[in-house]
Amino acid sequence: MMLQVAVISGKGGTGKTVVTAALADILPGKLAFADCDVEAANLALLLSPREKRRIPFFGMKKAVIREETCVVCGLCKAACRFNAIYQEPGGAYRVDPVRCEGCAVCMGVCPERAISLLEHQGGEVVTADSDRGPLVYAELRPGSGNSGLLVHEVKKEALKESEGRDLLLIDGPPGIGCPVISTMSGISAIVIVTEPGIAALHDLRRLVTVSSGFSLLHWVVINRADLHHGYTGEIELFCAEKGIPVIGKIPFDPAVMLAVRDGVPVTRRDCAASRELAGIGKRLAEGLSYVPG
Ligand code: SF4
Ligand code: SF4
Repeated sequence: MMLQVAVISGKGGTGKTVVTAALADILPGKLAFADCDVEAANLALLLSPREKRRIPFFGMKKAVIREETCVVCGLCKAACRFNAIYQEPGGAYRVDPVRCEGCAVCMGVCPERAISLLEHQGGEVVTADSDRGPLVYAELRPGSGNSGLLVHEVKKEALKESEGRDLLLIDGPPGIGCPVISTMSGISAIVIVTEPGIAALHDLRRLVTVSSGFSLLHWVVINRADLHHGYTGEIELFCAEKGIPVIGKIPFDPAVMLAVRDGVPVTRRDCAASRELAGIGKRLAEGLSYVPG
């Protein structure tokens, strides 16, 4: 059975995608990839994929005003608590689809039944091939919402694309909301990328509380671990209390940003961070005990 591993972080900006791209580069076996960080899908920038297919994604419905029926009374604008309805200089009322949350309140107040909720294309799911295996990611349009549903669509396509592979590696969304919970369903293990700092430690605690509800293996990687030994020690203590192995402490290394700038995984460079990531990849493969086909 194919394993599914998600790299996640309670907090954005911890280097989650850098770690995912490095693991994509060095893990053994036949791999496939899914970028479930649908609001900032950056894995493709580091894996140089060749695009194959684009599948439209329809998220939440949005209100649309039929101009020919509207009597320009303004009741809908007054009722919309998301400020999604505006009046054009010519007098016509319009809906801003970025602001509209599809709540249907405007439909209820419109005396002329001039408003409908219609399907709205919120983005696309993209399938692609990279040198290490198929990649599925998404492009979400601003204000489209429903990123949890889009994560589900990305995973669904990724599972189709990864037939016959040993491991599906997922770049997960930051935070602990619906997209993360969507990412965690059905997976074998998570790698939590954190960094020494009060906010990251707080988010790590919350994330572990949420993820403990799922039956999956946990590992922690501390990025830029040498920037604050005190907080790194606190993270290690917390992980020890929870029985979560810390499988790597990546040092701060300017070579990481240079590799990102060049659009390659940092493991293509000989530097302190890539050497630690090589060890993380080895420990992860051992921990998962998977036998590459
Ligand atoms: S559906 Fe809700 S959010 Fe959208 S325009 Fe109507 S009242 Fe505003
Ligand atoms: S409530 Fe209906 S009729 Fe009145 S401005 Fe809005 S769409 Fe037009």
